[in-house]
Amino acid sequence: MHELSIVEGMMRTVIPAARKAGAKRIVSIRLKIGDMSGVIPSCVEEYFSLVSPGTMAEGAKLVMEPVPVTISCPACGYAGPVKRGQWKCPQCAGTAYSVTGGNDFFVDSLEAE
Ligand SMILES: [Zn+2]
Repeated sequence: MHELSIVEGMMRTVIPAARKAGAKRIVSIRLKIGDMSGVIPSCVEEYFSLVSPGTMAEGAKLVMEPVPVTISCPACGYAGPVKRGQWKCPQCAGTAYSVTGGNDFFVDSLEAE
């Protein structure tokens, strides 16, 4: 159900934006999906095909780009990506880092006409 609310949120973002731009329909939606966001692209596609008919976004192409997880480690000063499934600082193996990217899902851009 997680993805359904995400797709609904996405629709609430893209439709007013396209309307504001004077577009009649949305051609494609570019999404960034963080590796740590827990969002499954195939589920996003599936829910999109359920909620988009009859809207401006009907038939739009979803372009989903994965975003690697990046951290900032206060112990050694490391700032950069971490490997998926290895949630520790690659430099000092510390776990007291803060996640600086890759933990969210958002609309990057959209193409409308
Ligand atoms: Zn570190």
